[in-house]
Amino acid sequence: MVKLTEGRGKELFRKYGVPVPSGTVVSTAPDAEQAVRSGKVPLPCVVKAQVLAGGRGKGGAVRFATTPEEARAAAAAILGATFQGETVREVLLEEKATIVRELYVSFALDRGARLPVLMVSARGGVEVESVGDVDIDRQPVEPFPGLAAFQRRRAARVLGLSGALGADLDRLLGNLYRLFDREDAELVEVNPLAVVGEHLLALDAKVIIEDDASFRHPEYAAIHDDRTELEEIAREKEIAFVQLDGNIGVIANGAGLTMATLDVLKEFGGAPGVFLDLGGTDDPQKVTEAFLLMAKAKPHAVFLNIFGGVTRCDTVAKGLVAALGTVPASERFPLVARIRGNNEAEGIAILRAAGVASVPDLRESAQLVVAAAKGAA
Ligand code: GDP
Ligand code: MN
Repeated sequence: MVKLTEGRGKELFRKYGVPVPSGTVVSTAPDAEQAVRSGKVPLPCVVKAQVLAGGRGKGGAVRFATTPEEARAAAAAILGATFQGETVREVLLEEKATIVRELYVSFALDRGARLPVLMVSARGGVEVESVGDVDIDRQPVEPFPGLAAFQRRRAARVLGLSGALGADLDRLLGNLYRLFDREDAELVEVNPLAVVGEHLLALDAKVIIEDDASFRHPEYAAIHDDRTELEEIAREKEIAFVQLDGNIGVIANGAGLTMATLDVLKEFGGAPGVFLDLGGTDDPQKVTEAFLLMAKAKPHAVFLNIFGGVTRCDTVAKGLVAALGTVPASERFPLVARIRGNNEAEGIAILRAAGVASVPDLRESAQLVVAAAKGAA
């Protein structure tokens, strides 16, 4: 999943003929001031944090300025701050629009229906999440022949747009759908789509590109704003690896067991810091690589929780023991293992020979690792 920042999303909007305010992205406060002074961004303007999380409006990450100095101050206040765990490195400066109405429009992939769906609501803006399904009109779109004229008319009726605004919406929906289709997006969302005078303007842009289509879009390969460095390496090695805020590393196999393991750790007061899903690998080398990557995340303790199936316990044990030998002393951490299932006895024997005990009970092993992480902290 490649999430685009608003600035990048709006570049796409421009390319496909979806109207957006004139603006520019900067990464320093003096550049923000300069962008306004040079006339590149007309006043009054909006200063918006370029982070992937939503809810910026409510979180103080969307500000307004009426002078170049104010634009600079707004940028200074936002840049470098953290917003929902993300550090703000860029701000988007845009001419401030005078909003008559805020609407909501999106195309999303409805995986249940196996079709794109057009969603519109006359109540857009920062409150749309609380609107609930009742106020959102949904129309599934048949990929062949694509978005139909009657569907665009129905959207216009739901949004209460007629005349010039209705014509604007008609064009906009056609263009937005073309973007969704050609760029292989799984979501394009405009919230708010603003009525400004007699025209429509996309004031926000959320675009997510479908991962499975990435081979068709090498241009997105360089954009991984939401991945950490280690996650990036893991991805290249095709290892499912996610970094969180805590200090306990979790190695499990299968999404279900991995999530359950995180839950159990939480239950005993532990804070998972990174997890790694070995999935169904039968290659000890891959286990070794995954484990070394885990070591780089510097966990205070690691919980290995494996249910042997396709991934046999002895495969994991072998890979793990090979990796243990190469982890430098400075990166060592307490390790609690729990391996059950296919070739369990062989796996346990391999671990024991390397000085790692397997604790068969889930709650007991989870408590041990939580205590070990606290002891190391
Ligand atoms: P989000 O909260 O992260 O979705 O950020 P948005 O880009 O949607 O901005 C949040 C809110 O700020 C919008 O719903 C608008 O009410 C307001 N806003 C954003 N741009 C403008 C603008 O150009 N003019 C005015 N008047 N309000 C704006
Ligand atoms: Mn928005």
